[in-house]
Amino acid sequence: MTTPTVAETPPSVLIVEDEETLLFTLAHNLKREGYKVITASRGDDALELARSKNPDLILLDVMLPGVDGIQVCRLLRRDTTIPIIMLTALGGEGDRVAGLDTGADDYLAKPFGMRELLARVRAVLRRSSLRTPAAAASDLYVTGDLEIDPGRREVRKNGALVHLKPKEYELLVFFTQHPGRVYTREQILDEVWGYDYEGGARTVDVHVRWLRQKIEDDPGQPQHIRTVRGSGYIFDG
Ligand code: CA
Repeated sequence: MTTPTVAETPPSVLIVEDEETLLFTLAHNLKREGYKVITASRGDDALELARSKNPDLILLDVMLPGVDGIQVCRLLRRDTTIPIIMLTALGGEGDRVAGLDTGADDYLAKPFGMRELLARVRAVLRRSSLRTPAAAASDLYVTGDLEIDPGRREVRKNGALVHLKPKEYELLVFFTQHPGRVYTREQILDEVWGYDYEGGARTVDVHVRWLRQKIEDDPGQPQHIRTVRGSGYIFDG
């Protein structure tokens, strides 16, 4: 089993859940896997802790006293890219959609098994790429006019902050980590969205288009992310 303990600082997880027993069980299991755990049982406390502690991941229940989980997610997405996994009620299809719409990275319907939860946590942390031990260095990555600060999950172009959505950021990081190599849409889907993602390859095209609008001088004549006809995309610094 992969544990995160190799990293100098273990990833921290903020658990937001008002059912005491579930909160305890989640905290216990995550600690046992080596994560640093922070807990909250109210939405307003969660907002405060997310901002003051800057956790690497948030497990966020939907039905919460104070501010509900959907609203917490929406408020956090205004200024943070901390990965969020929503914990939804059984059959809460509406919750799931609302959660993903507001920028959650994944969701789990209750009741869920601990093994599945831990697998999702690892997957989301892995996809947020720079949290894995091998890439945990917080050094700036500079390529051409772009500057990526993994510690802050910030991107600058010619020194100006570029506002990227979490998936746009992860896609850019993936590209910058693999420059000069052609990737098919399917490969990019696997690497950035995860093997179990149900969306099609078109998702990649849409995100590439959004990303180009933010990082290219001329999105119509991209210099960083170029299309390779019939194959996929290639990144140049
Ligand atoms: Ca609840």
